[in-house]
Amino acid sequence: MSQELHDVIIIGGGPAGLTAGLYTSRAKLSTLLVERMIMGGQVMTTTKVENYPGFPGGVDGPDLMMRFQEHCQEFGLQIDYGEVENLIDRGDEKIVVVDGKELRARCVIITTGAEPRKLGVDGEQEFTGRGVSYCATCDGAFFRDVPVAIIGGGDTAAEEALFLTRFASKVYIIHRRDQLRATKILQERIFAHEKIEVIWNTEIDRVVGDSSGMQSVELKDRVSGETRPLELQGLFVAIGVTPKAHFLAEVLELDDDGHILTDPECRTSMDGVFAAGDVRKKILKQIATAVGDGAVAAIMAEKYLMDRE
Ligand code: NAP
Repeated sequence: MSQELHDVIIIGGGPAGLTAGLYTSRAKLSTLLVERMIMGGQVMTTTKVENYPGFPGGVDGPDLMMRFQEHCQEFGLQIDYGEVENLIDRGDEKIVVVDGKELRARCVIITTGAEPRKLGVDGEQEFTGRGVSYCATCDGAFFRDVPVAIIGGGDTAAEEALFLTRFASKVYIIHRRDQLRATKILQERIFAHEKIEVIWNTEIDRVVGDSSGMQSVELKDRVSGETRPLELQGLFVAIGVTPKAHFLAEVLELDDDGHILTDPECRTSMDGVFAAGDVRKKILKQIATAVGDGAVAAIMAEKYLMDRE
């Protein structure tokens, strides 16, 4: 990676980062976007996006993100890969430490997004990759004609349950309350699907298996307190996400859940550093709101740089 002074470094290549990159590179600011692994963020694990405007009938998540990336590169956005480890404030210059190397920028936009939350029960870690998964889109096809379960009651759980019906013989949704949090249209599809059964007011106590992989889970009814085993070959955990900002805990203000705190214009507690998308504390986490955030952060970054000229 070069040691030039970039106008902007964007950390993270999901919808918020790519939108910020589109705006700043189109504004002729020299912009480097650093991504840890795969461009596109969480949308890459979504089979069909139905609520992003402009795509009647829905659009495949990876296809949408490929379009975002191509669009940015039309305006000269530079993309590089590496793990950002730290951010150092040197006033008008910020240092972004990537895999031990120091990159320089006049301002920084953080769009690192979020990652799936873990259940934290016995057996979860042991059987991850051998029955336990955090991504139905990625792993669903390995579970043909066997019973599987999703834990969670949000949009992700609902969408993944519907996706898994393509492969599994039976899909249980295990939810800790007596109503789902998922949007109405997804709920209607779930209740109408013959392969899906919702197990209400229930949590998972542990994941059980042997050397061949997971075999069952131990369920606990939260109302009666009774426990019972449920035979399963796969367990998909969809209980929400945690923001990827822990590496910034020493330098930026975060909330108790680890989100970066910003003002409505995406400014963080460090002058010249902005945050956009799921990593920042906000009400609604959608592709559309990540895009909105990315645009706001980019415009605010541009204004910050202009004020210094
Ligand atoms: P979410 O909306 O936060 O839902 C998490 C679900 O997991 C909730 O039902 C919650 O139960 C349950 N849960 C949390 N911790 C748990 C635990 N320890 N044990 C058991 N269950 C637990 O998360 P999400 O579904 O991943 O969605 C994240 C965001 O992305 C949301 O804003 C969502 O709308 C958005 N999203 C949107 C779409 C779409 O629009 N197409 C698709 C996917 C995600 P409670 O209900 O009891 O709290």
